[in-house]
Amino acid sequence: MTTQPKARLATLVAASAAALLTTFSAPTLAQAYPDKPVTLVVPFAAGGPTDVVARMMAIPMGKSLGQTVIIENTVGAGGTIAAAKVARAAPNGYTLLIHHMGMSTAPALYKKLSFDPLKDFEYVGQVVDVPMTLLARKDFPASTFPELLAYVKSHKDKVSMANAGLGAVSHLCGLLFQSQIGVELNTIPYKGTAPAMNDLLGGQVDLMCDQTTQTVPMIKDGRVKVFGVTSTTRLAALPNIPTLDEQGLKGFEVKVWHGIYAPKGTPGPVIDKLGVALREAMQDPLVKQRLAELSSDIVPQSKMYPAALKTHLEAEIKKWGPVIHKAGIYAD
Ligand code: ASP
Repeated sequence: MTTQPKARLATLVAASAAALLTTFSAPTLAQAYPDKPVTLVVPFAAGGPTDVVARMMAIPMGKSLGQTVIIENTVGAGGTIAAAKVARAAPNGYTLLIHHMGMSTAPALYKKLSFDPLKDFEYVGQVVDVPMTLLARKDFPASTFPELLAYVKSHKDKVSMANAGLGAVSHLCGLLFQSQIGVELNTIPYKGTAPAMNDLLGGQVDLMCDQTTQTVPMIKDGRVKVFGVTSTTRLAALPNIPTLDEQGLKGFEVKVWHGIYAPKGTPGPVIDKLGVALREAMQDPLVKQRLAELSSDIVPQSKMYPAALKTHLEAEIKKWGPVIHKAGIYAD
């Protein structure tokens, strides 16, 4: 009998504590944030172009946040495994995703996608735009673009083209190349273009599209053959390499944009802190210099905000959906 009022009191205390927590948890969390390391999930293998961008930013972002930013490579299925993982992570700012334009092509490429890029995330901001290059192994029989076209057309059953998994941007670039020249090649998927590059360097695969964040040093050292860049103008880092557009693939343009995402429900003040860290990191002189050397364009600071990333993502989903559906390409 006497326990009843006590029990009621306990319930009352618990309820008030819960109410207090709900009222104060978001600002308190944001004030204390971050009080432990922050994980930035990279959806492709270590050493590849997305990983290069992430690791470049991790140190200055960590400096701004006052905590270490740890890189975690969660690979597979063209980046969709990592995106699904971050979509399901606790919305507390300690698990983030850096992803490229694959975020906008996945909804069209995958019939079954376990996350919705437009509903399951909070958006921190855009980061950098990186062009791609069309490469071949060093001892590939063709050396010029016309020779490449002639060779692949006459040896299509033998020529292989690597990519970072179905739905990766290297996959998309390869498909655009093949559809524009009207040839279907053997596609070899990897878990990122770092392992794909190892096989290209080793001569196990013939061709690959990949971002300049990985390819500029290999091209300069002559470790791979290059047939063109996917931007519409030539690149400062590779001034002698023509664009694919100027060599006859009219309108061929793949510019790989990147964004940083957090799970849906991450408190606004936490997103704001991450935005400040992103903008500070991209002003770091070393980051600026390294990205310039790799012909990668840091986006204007005005794009490093949630609304800018979300608007861009929406526009890119609208842009790539019809192209992919028209080509009838599916990754699953
Ligand atoms: N370059 C890769 C892609 O094709 C990604 C990576 O390995 O960073 O999407």
